[in-house]
Parts: sequence; C-alpha cells; structure tokens
Amino acid sequence: MKNPYTILINREHPLPPDHVPQGLVDIGIPFEAAPGDPKRLLEEKTAFAALSLIRDARHENLNLCGISGYRSYTRQAELSTGSPYVAPPGTSEHQSGLALDVSCPEVQMELTEDFARTPEGLWLARNAPLYGFILRYPVNKEAVTGFPWEPWHIRFVTRPLAFYLTLTGMTLEEYFSMAF
Ligand SMILES: [Zn+2]
Repeated sequence: MKNPYTILINREHPLPPDHVPQGLVDIGIPFEAAPGDPKRLLEEKTAFAALSLIRDARHENLNLCGISGYRSYTRQAELSTGSPYVAPPGTSEHQSGLALDVSCPEVQMELTEDFARTPEGLWLARNAPLYGFILRYPVNKEAVTGFPWEPWHIRFVTRPLAFYLTLTGMTLEEYFSMAF
C-alpha cells in the first residue's frame, strides 16, 4: 500500500469533501483549545510524534502549544468563505489529520510570522524533522506551495522523508515533481 503519510495536498491536489481520516485521536497534547474541541484531534502516528516533540521541547523550557490540528472539510468551507487568504475546502492539510499549527506564549499563542524568531520557533525549525515533521510552507516558496510562509504549520511525513526534504531544501511539491 502507498505510504499514506506522504500524500500531497494543495490547490492542485485537493482532498474530496468526504475524506475523513481514520483513527483521529486526542492523546492529551498540550493544546490551547479545551478538551472536546475537534481541533485537538490528529491522526494517531502524527499525534504521538507531536507529543514527543512538544515534551522534548518542554525539557528545554520551551512552551510549544498546539493551536489547530484536524479540521473538517465543512469547517474549512466556513472559515474560507469570503476570504482569499484562507485555504479553500479540500486544499488544507488540516483535513488530513497530518498537520498541526503550534505557537507559544511569547507571541500570545498567535499564528504569526513573529513565531519564527521565538526560541520555540527556532527550536521547531531545527528539530521538527527528528520527529517526522516538516515545516510545510517555507519562506520564499509561496509560488511553489501556493501558501504564504507559515512557520507555525508542521506536517507529518515520517522521518525518512522529513530528513530528505530538509537536507535537500525541497518542498513536497518539488519532491513529487521529480521523475522517479
Ligand atoms: Zn496550518
């Protein structure tokens, strides 16, 4: 079976409206949202990888906090209505359960480019691949990914692919455009 963790999701490769990931879980990752909020849900392997990432950061006194995990097609449709800046439904990785937005108290838990300059943001950029995550929307890759720079958005792709993409500086789009 094809590795489900390497799936490419973007404006050219949207998820169908009825795509709901199997086995969404809330394993108690530190989240700003209260228990019971669906944005705390993640695909299971993604959730465990995110938990060890956040725990290891805590050991270095860094307070990474989950802001948004899973988001349904319907919810994405509500959020994006009338806004050219929010991903249209089907094109958000959050619908897959494989993506997580994180932030920290220094930037008031906001999803802002300033997060990249915080100790938490710098640590995340350096260490995310060790846990199988990539920073999915890098700076200066907007023309490739179709998304502006989002230093807070991490995407689980498994460690081998996360290392590969990080070492080569490639986005998922560039990886999939290579001839295999
Ligand atoms: Zn995101």
